[in-house]
Amino acid sequence: MFTKYKNNWLKFNLNRRCVLCSQQAISQTRICDDCLTDLPWIGNACQRCANPLSSAQLPHLICPQCQKKPPPFEQVIAPFEYRFPIDQLIQLAKFNHRPHLLNPLAELLSLQLQNTPLPELVIPVPLHPKRLQERQYNQAALLAKRIARNLDIPFSNRLLIKTDNTPHQAELDRKARRKNLRNSFQCCGSPPSSIAIVDDVMTTGTTAAEISRELKAAGCHRVYIWVIARTAKELHLY
Ligand SMILES: [Zn+2]
Ligand SMILES: [Zn+2]
Repeated sequence: MFTKYKNNWLKFNLNRRCVLCSQQAISQTRICDDCLTDLPWIGNACQRCANPLSSAQLPHLICPQCQKKPPPFEQVIAPFEYRFPIDQLIQLAKFNHRPHLLNPLAELLSLQLQNTPLPELVIPVPLHPKRLQERQYNQAALLAKRIARNLDIPFSNRLLIKTDNTPHQAELDRKARRKNLRNSFQCCGSPPSSIAIVDDVMTTGTTAAEISRELKAAGCHRVYIWVIARTAKELHLY
């Protein structure tokens, strides 16, 4: 009986190879220790928006942009900069029908969240139903669900919906981004007092800010943004 158990355990774990280099990786994150060390971790970052801080800015903990104009959310948690190999994993997960590649990233983000304030509810950045139909899954919802389960927090993908099928943000300039998203998210119920919004990548923060405004207008008091990665040195476009 014991041998059978041991063999099953070995078979299961030997199949768990590192998603980046195929070395054996017996851990929940499915990324081996060598690859983990080489990932583009964000070290010192603004405690509000997670933008990396320069050594000159470091004593302040909050970046100059957030000091000047605080964002409508309380805090962004982003373990990584959006560059190799994190960008590749996210692109493959999102556009090449390999959503399982999100699992190690969700595990790493969950670990990062263990010492941060936890909300009452976790929600994903919603996709418009048309785009959901094209892609077949919402990568943000897959991440959010797994993180919520890891942290034992309720999850909902119904509280917030995307009402307009807006063009991709990447194709638009600063003003157009904000205009593009204005009123395109709708809160469909009364939100709890604290919520975390999960997405794969945060670029300018326009989406996060727009959702935060919508949730706060509906009665939520504290909004946290949890993302796998953020692009560095982007302008604040709140
Ligand atoms: Zn590896
Ligand atoms: Zn900041």
